[in-house]
Amino acid sequence: MQIDPVGAEICSAVAEEATVQQFPARSTSLGSLEIRRALPVREKRLVGPWCFLDRYGPLSFTEGRPMDVAPHPHIGLQTVSWLLDGEVLHQDSIGQEAIVRAGGAHIMTAGDGIAHAETTPAENRGRLDGVQLWVALPDAERHREASFQHIAEVPVLETEAGMIRIFSGSLDGTTSPAAHFSPLVGADLELRPNARLVVRLDRAFEHGLFVLSGDLSFDRRVLGHDALHYFGRGRTELPLSTAQGARVLLVGGVPFPETIVMWWNFVARTPEEIVEARRAWEEGRHFGSVEGYRGLRLEAPPLGRLARPNPAS
Ligand code: MN
Repeated sequence: MQIDPVGAEICSAVAEEATVQQFPARSTSLGSLEIRRALPVREKRLVGPWCFLDRYGPLSFTEGRPMDVAPHPHIGLQTVSWLLDGEVLHQDSIGQEAIVRAGGAHIMTAGDGIAHAETTPAENRGRLDGVQLWVALPDAERHREASFQHIAEVPVLETEAGMIRIFSGSLDGTTSPAAHFSPLVGADLELRPNARLVVRLDRAFEHGLFVLSGDLSFDRRVLGHDALHYFGRGRTELPLSTAQGARVLLVGGVPFPETIVMWWNFVARTPEEIVEARRAWEEGRHFGSVEGYRGLRLEAPPLGRLARPNPAS
């Protein structure tokens, strides 16, 4: 890097601004449901405090329950459920039960510990299309009491280019009622055919884009499907365009200042905490039970190698 005695910081900001990096998503499954996982991947663990991004669907079904995730525990994170179509029933160990649909959001703050199940409800549209995201809780908040928030309809910014639905944090002056504990944004950009949309960004944030459907270009570069497109800090706008129309997920936040350890459904700081949380679940302690779910709960997998922590930043 060149050292410029007058404006080293400006130079570095410009260098960051020009950069878009691609991180391929990987395929995995959640029960019988096929998933594309865009976070964490090998080379990218976090975007702001966002530490997990699973994409499922779009799919149609005539019988069964494509979403059937039996009771399982979480610590140290928030789950954010966002649907494009269909419905998911949330049931948890603090007695909350709610159905999320397209346009609404579920935010579950695991804090010190919660268990939940997520299923396709008996009455459904026969379609499922959505994402699940996790947000790492900062150290000062990660032991808080568990809570759950159902948002029937998140705020929408309507522009000529399309609709921006803000499910988490703030974008361009519009703020979601979702309770979060770090500066962040989570939004769904729906672009009309032949639209050009300039998204205003917080320059203190890093951002990631994930194309949910359609075609998307940034600065005449095509941003493909099945990858997280990463933008570093220092950007104030994101010029996007589409030919056929597109649906795009935007996540961002101030780079998370703490090093986390992720394993299974836990976000912690040390391997010992993971081992203790796993033991508590296996011994039926601490997390409570999900009364509404019929069937067996999930067992923790054997303790293997813990996911490597994010590089301290
Ligand atoms: Mn979960």
